[in-house]
Formats: sequence, structure tokens, C-alpha cells
Amino acid sequence: MQDSLAKIYESLGIDKKVYELAEEVLAGLSGRFNRIDENAELCQLKVLRAFQKENVSEACLMGTTGYGYNDLGRDTLEKVYAGYFGTEDALVRPQITCGTHALALALMSNLRPGDELLSAVGRPYDTLEEVIGIRPSKGSLSEYGITYAQADLDENGLPDLEEIKNKINDRTKVVTIQRSKGYQTRPSLSVSQISDIIKTVKSVRNDIICMVDNCYGEFVEDKEPSDVGADMVVGSLIKNPGGGLAQVGGYIAGTKECIENAARRLTAPGLGREVGPSLDTLRSMYQGFFMGPVVTASALKSAIFAANLYEKFGFESFPSASEERHDIIQAITFHKPEGLIAFCEGIQAAAPVDSQYAPEPWDMPGYDSQVIMAAGAFTSGSSIELSADGPLREPYTAYFQGGLTWPHGKFGIIRSFQSLVDKGLVTF
Ligand SMILES: *Cc1c(COP(=O)(O)O)cnc(C)c1O
Repeated sequence: MQDSLAKIYESLGIDKKVYELAEEVLAGLSGRFNRIDENAELCQLKVLRAFQKENVSEACLMGTTGYGYNDLGRDTLEKVYAGYFGTEDALVRPQITCGTHALALALMSNLRPGDELLSAVGRPYDTLEEVIGIRPSKGSLSEYGITYAQADLDENGLPDLEEIKNKINDRTKVVTIQRSKGYQTRPSLSVSQISDIIKTVKSVRNDIICMVDNCYGEFVEDKEPSDVGADMVVGSLIKNPGGGLAQVGGYIAGTKECIENAARRLTAPGLGREVGPSLDTLRSMYQGFFMGPVVTASALKSAIFAANLYEKFGFESFPSASEERHDIIQAITFHKPEGLIAFCEGIQAAAPVDSQYAPEPWDMPGYDSQVIMAAGAFTSGSSIELSADGPLREPYTAYFQGGLTWPHGKFGIIRSFQSLVDKGLVTF
């Protein structure tokens, strides 16, 4: 078995020595991988229970067109999401185009002129800066007279509960909590840390809406932020909950009132959730949500394997090789442009689609340095699929995530490592 595996790796350009090193690293990870599988089992059963409780039927997989009135599949899928997240209601739509859109929708529909939005965990995800108006932008919350406050993290990068209390005032209407670090260097939050933030906010005023940016966090733990009091959890279907099958979409799960506000803003007051055709997106959304827990487990294993392999050869990884995971993003720092480029080339070369192309650094709009991206994905921009990117500047860090199957994640990491070996950037 090992022999024939080594042979097929060899036929895919992996040196025997590199393959053996990878297997050595993996041998030490079986305990952690077992715990990931246990968590995937638990999440899988929670998802299945939600499907069965709502009596998902074959008819639910068929979509509607036009106005989309009486869309059984769409309405049932929203109940399935609400069931899994333990919320009163949910909005899950192909018309919500991405994570940023879902977050903007949740905010814009629940805030009114004169209200204040508070970020409890420092600077929010890049794309939200224009939504909020931190960077002046047409159509931002700021243009509608909604102000913004921010409780910075403490010196260890952890939530500062005292500071959060201090920043709440009479106008604070929504508190936003970003679960995943995204592309920052702070630690990602555990659901238990999110619980502490929510308790702190609610102890000041119970009617403040706590919204969690749940991107990259779904199915990573045995609980979701909505299980510990979040009024809204928000995310993208081309990340974890789409299971790599959903081709577009975003979700908001939360209280009845928050979801009603969001539905009226997505379509129009008076129309709300009644309109919005699912077209032919439903089958992939159902099947993707069903697959989500095991796909997320594959991505988690890939992240942990990458951290352990690269750390062994002197590269910094974040989170570190042994750290507990709260999302699927893995950062690896090369301190050299050649290292970052070779890593991304390897990820691309391991892809099922577009493996024949090499990624090149380019001037991406909105960035002050060149960016390199590796993504040989079935769905454009999907980051639950094996993908990596990073800005061409010190410290030359690659952000790596995804892997629809563990064997593919494993191969991708080994292929990236081979690419560094081939360029003489690692020695052993
Ligand atoms: C990806 C992401 C977003 C934005 O999602 P897009 O689909 O890229 O618009 C927001 N917040 C976090 C933490 C993310 O990881």
C-alpha cells in the first residue's frame, strides 16, 4: 500500500524523500485528526437532524423562477439552516452574492440613522471598511448617519471585555464580532470567547444585537456562536457551509426580527422573503450543507498538516503547529518573495482545474503591493477549495485554506513543499 502510494506520488512529481518526510510528520498527527473526525461526526448528525426535522423531500431540490413565490425548497432550506444554527429563522439565498454582501445586508437592515455600530474585536475584515465607511465610500453606513466605534484588542490580541463595556453607549444598536482572524495576525476566536463577549454586551444592555461574522468558522467546533446567544450569524456559501458544492450564496441565521429586517432590505419592504427565485441552486445548496462538516474537517486537517510540515523546516506558521483551531485559515511565513511564490505555484500545480497554469504576482485593485493567488477551483473564488494567496511584501506570508477532500489537501501541501525543494528553498 505504502509502496504503491509512494509510486503514484512519484508519478505526480513528488520525490520519494519528500513523500517520506510528509508521512513522518503525519504519523504524529493521528490523535488530532481523530478529534477532528469526531467533531465532524457530531456536526454531520446535527445537520442531518435538521434535514429530517424539516422533512426535506425530493420536491425541495427543484427551484423556482421569476418572482419565486411559494418556493418550497428555498423556504425549507432556510428552516434547515435555522435548525442547525439553533436560531428562530434564517435567510439563505443565491441573491446574497458573497460574505461581504451578507454582512452588509445584516448591518444595513438592522441599523437606522443615529444608531451606532460597535466592533468588539478591533478592525473588521478589509471589505467591511467600505461598508461601514471607515474608508469613505458611496452608500456606506456612515453616509446614512450610522456611526462606528471600535473596541481594540488587548496587547495579546484577545478581546478586551472592559474596553467593550466602555465603548457601549445609548446609541449602540449592533455589536459585530468577527470569529475568524481573516488576514490579520490576531488569534481567531473560540465560540467560548465569543460567548464571553456576548455576555459582556448583554450585561450592559440586553437589547443590543450581537452579530457574528461566522466566515470560515462553521462546523469547526461542536457549537456555533448562535448556540451561545448571538442574535445573528452571517457567512458565505462558497466557504464552509456550501461544502464546495454551492456555487453562490450567503446566509444570515438569527432572531425572527433580525431576519425579517434583512429580508425586507434584500428585496423590498412589503415583499420581504416571499420573493427571490432559487433558480437551480437548491440541489447544490442542500447537498453542500450536508457535506459541509466533512469538507470542513478536510480543510482543518490540511491546515494542521501544513503548519506541522513547514514548522519542522523552520518556517513560522500561524496558528502554530500545535495550536487549537477555530477556523480553517493557515498562514505560513517565508520572509522571501521566492518562498511565497513557490508555495503558491505548488498549490496551483496540485489543483484539479487549471493545474497547467502558474500563478503570477499582479497589481490587484485596492492593494498597495502585488498579490499572488493560487486557485484551481471548480467554483470561481471558492476558498473552501484548496487555495492560497498573499501580498508580495514583508514578511511574505501565504494564507492558505481549504481542501475539499483530505487526500487532495495532503497532496497540495506536499506539492507546495516539493516546489520549495525544487527551488532550493528548503534543505534537509
Ligand atoms: C471571506 C470573509 C469575509 C467576506 O466574504 P467574501 O465572500 O469574500 O465577500 C468577511 N469576513 C471574513 C472573516 C471572511 O473570512
